[in-house]
Amino acid sequence: MDQFDVDLFVIGGGSGGVRAARIAAGHGAKVRIAEEYRMGGTCVIRGCVPKKLFVYAARFAHEFEDAAGFGWSVEGARFDWATLVANKDKEITRLEGAYSANLDRSGVEIVRQRATVEGPHAVRLADGTEVTARFILIATGGRPNRGLDFPGCELGITSNEIFHLERFPERIVIQGAGYIALEFASLLAGLGAKVTVVHRGDKLLRGFDEDIRDRIVDEMAQNGVEFEFGVTIESIHAEASEKRVRLNDGRDLFADEVMLAIGRVPNTIGLGLDTVGVHLDEAGAIAVDGLSRTNIPSIYAVGDVTNRANLTPVAIREGHAFADTVFGKHPWHVTYDNIPTAVFAEPEIGTVGLSEQEARAQGRRLDIYQTDFRPLKATLSGRTSRVFMKIVVDQADDRVLGVHLIGEGSGEMVQMAAIAMNVGATKTDFDRTMALHPSSAEELVTLRAKHATSDPLPEASAEATPAL
Ligand SMILES: Cc1cc2nc3c(=O)[nH]c(=O)nc-3n(C[C@H](O)[C@H](O)[C@H](O)COP(=O)(O)OP(=O)(O)OC[C@H]3O[C@@H](n4cnc5c(N)ncnc54)[C@H](O)[C@@H]3O)c2cc1C
Repeated sequence: MDQFDVDLFVIGGGSGGVRAARIAAGHGAKVRIAEEYRMGGTCVIRGCVPKKLFVYAARFAHEFEDAAGFGWSVEGARFDWATLVANKDKEITRLEGAYSANLDRSGVEIVRQRATVEGPHAVRLADGTEVTARFILIATGGRPNRGLDFPGCELGITSNEIFHLERFPERIVIQGAGYIALEFASLLAGLGAKVTVVHRGDKLLRGFDEDIRDRIVDEMAQNGVEFEFGVTIESIHAEASEKRVRLNDGRDLFADEVMLAIGRVPNTIGLGLDTVGVHLDEAGAIAVDGLSRTNIPSIYAVGDVTNRANLTPVAIREGHAFADTVFGKHPWHVTYDNIPTAVFAEPEIGTVGLSEQEARAQGRRLDIYQTDFRPLKATLSGRTSRVFMKIVVDQADDRVLGVHLIGEGSGEMVQMAAIAMNVGATKTDFDRTMALHPSSAEELVTLRAKHATSDPLPEASAEATPAL
């Protein structure tokens, strides 16, 4: 081991890299980690965490409106963007410090600069220093795709910039149809912006269950988000106090900001991977096997840079598995079944397992249980949005293959459903679980009729007042 400066050099201080570094150090390895921007990575600095704080901020708007039906009068409610951004920044700085402190405590040495791969066992730092390592872990994540090439595309912002806008965008055009586009569309609309989502296709959220894809558009439209389907942005022109967005059908939209949310790409460019011969896949992601090994025996990769399932808990688990496998004498694989995901739009989506379409494509015969109801809270708030729930069941063995939800608390519910699905729960297991009443979640254990529109017995389901 002494022939190398360190046992492990981690490039990238995000979710996957930090976990791998800490666990490897815990197994006794000498570890160094390089981060070129801010410790914590995308999730903490400009992803999940600040986004969810903004989502909370936006949801107060509905809460204030809904409160009236419950007897409250909320007068003089005003939103201040600068306060939200400043408070969010304070929390992110605190978290960044906590990440660094945890690494310090674990004995990991932090290098605050860019690092590139120089050889199978060598890393070059931005200041020119070379560090040799027995193993190199690449955990450089991804970045917003800026791959559009039209006049004025440089005037568009991405999720990186939106967290730091000095002025709240009263009008914003968002190009994209993935979860980031929809989350920002919802939260900015909630905070009072006029939001237009532009998408060249005719549906959002590719890969989600078709019922979810159909319903989310109506629900978001009810919350004031406008959609322009079948068009793309042809150009952006900066005018005196606004941006003119020319669509490819000749129409103009006017906005304060234009957000390009057309996906993310793995951070592999300029990393020195070609000099060592690390294989990339067709999407430019690092190709790895089930143990996160690249084709070079001393180089591993985890997280978004490998483009497997681009989510924080997945990156963390991949980093942990890598460290246990290589330094802990305890090899294990990450399993990618039943990964629960939420889209923190308004309303929220929660989904886990196979969509109906995926399950059918596997040739399975299915029972589909679904319901669509007005939640109890809406009876007094007057809000028109509905809750949708769908359970995909394999006819062959009654196993629950997928759960797909739209409505308040869907993300929280689907996390619990994922546990049940991981232990192989059947629809009968769901049915014999006592309902928690009154709640929306009880619908998951009271869905009886296939393709039901609602529980037929109102007294069994006060939360889900029968669909009208
Ligand atoms: C707006 C947004 C919202 C999101 N919301 C969610 C969510 O709600 N839930 C969820 O699970 N996931 C969410 N994600 C995805 C999540 O952030 C990523 O899946 C996760 O951060 C991946 O972790 P990682 O370790 O692979 O990479 P990252 O967290 O991206 O970390 C990579 C780090 O490497 C650094 N780096 C890159 N190159 C170098 C180099 N050469 N030298 C040194 N350092 C380098 C980068 O600066 C970065 O800090 C969101 C992402 C975005 C953008």
